[in-house]
Amino acid sequence: MLNLKINHSLILLSLVLVVATSCKTNKQWEGQGEIQKVNTETVPVQRQYRDIFNLGNGIYASNEFDGARLNGIVMVNDTIISTLSTPENTPINTSPWYAFKLWSEEEQKVTLSLTYPENINHRYHPKISSDGINFVEIDSSELFIAKKTVEEKIKTPSATIRLSISPDTVWISAQELITTSDNKQWTNELSLKPFITKSKAGESREGKPIEVLRIGESDDKAMIFVLSRQHPPEVTGYLAMKAFIETISSNSEDAIAFRKKYNTYVFPLVNPDGVDNGHWRHNMGGIDLNRDWEDFNQPETRVIRDFANKKVKENNGKIYFFVDFHSTWQDIYYTIDPEQKGNMPGLVPALISETGKEFENYNPNVKPSPGTGKRVTSTSYFFYEHGAESLTYEIGDNTSREFVKKKGEVTAEKLMKLLLE
Ligand SMILES: [Zn+2]
Repeated sequence: MLNLKINHSLILLSLVLVVATSCKTNKQWEGQGEIQKVNTETVPVQRQYRDIFNLGNGIYASNEFDGARLNGIVMVNDTIISTLSTPENTPINTSPWYAFKLWSEEEQKVTLSLTYPENINHRYHPKISSDGINFVEIDSSELFIAKKTVEEKIKTPSATIRLSISPDTVWISAQELITTSDNKQWTNELSLKPFITKSKAGESREGKPIEVLRIGESDDKAMIFVLSRQHPPEVTGYLAMKAFIETISSNSEDAIAFRKKYNTYVFPLVNPDGVDNGHWRHNMGGIDLNRDWEDFNQPETRVIRDFANKKVKENNGKIYFFVDFHSTWQDIYYTIDPEQKGNMPGLVPALISETGKEFENYNPNVKPSPGTGKRVTSTSYFFYEHGAESLTYEIGDNTSREFVKKKGEVTAEKLMKLLLE
């Protein structure tokens, strides 16, 4: 309690320097360096304790729902509520994924202070919702991001929100809450189409189904594979994947022709345990699944590896294209070294350039990975194992949702055209 009070006065002091802003930096874009192999053997994770919390003053909070985390909440004084979100285990990327519900017996104004463990920065612009389904961004004038300089680096240790609460529950969340049940609803609807079938490819560490959709009426000689949500909070990547898949499943001339020639296999939620438990990045084995495509220590990666191998063997098929949807600070394409030739050389550069032509003044960052043959990530695994022309498709956390959808649709349209040529 004492610690929280001290932390809070520090936060209030730093409010003097506060600027209302999103958390973009202006430094030169470098992208991630070469991805290093790490040990992916299972380690313990911290679950969050779920409950309804009586905070006093007639104010209540709850984290009894799937997706995102609330690991502590306390009234600091009559009007300030401090929340804490902690990761499932460490070391981990800075992606504090918080969500909780608040209500009060009487309508009142409160100040919410979102805090994280030491050295973790605030990342996600808070969103609010009255139903847990439709979220809107909190107005920037009600949001203050604390900034302080530590060893010449700008840190953003907390964010403060002014908010009215009442007997009507309000949801506060880092990103839109899209959990396994939302995904199930989407895949159920899609699989009503006669050319889409849904099946369970295997199970997560917690025993949740890892679902795969098969889209198409071809004989599996030619296939594409699609993944999303290896990393639980990466909701914008998921939204782009959805638009991409809906376009491949549409009634357009190209989509109909495409489905006669190619089958698309999509794993929309690779990490269902992480998604529902609100993990910042890892699966229930405490591992970043996108570092486990060489050693396959985790069930989620093994399920997809075995499924793809089976499909290739059964019909002597080929995977021509592989895409893995993610989110990060901005829109990025991570590609394979263009000197390396897969099953359709030049496909990914052509796809990026064709997609770009549809958007004025849009210059996404493109970074090829060094062609070392390492298979740490899904993209490198599908390229070096199956020859699939592979792409890691990163969408910015704050990219407008309208643009995310449009870009996912255009990417699918261009891909279908290129693969039909
Ligand atoms: Zn990611």
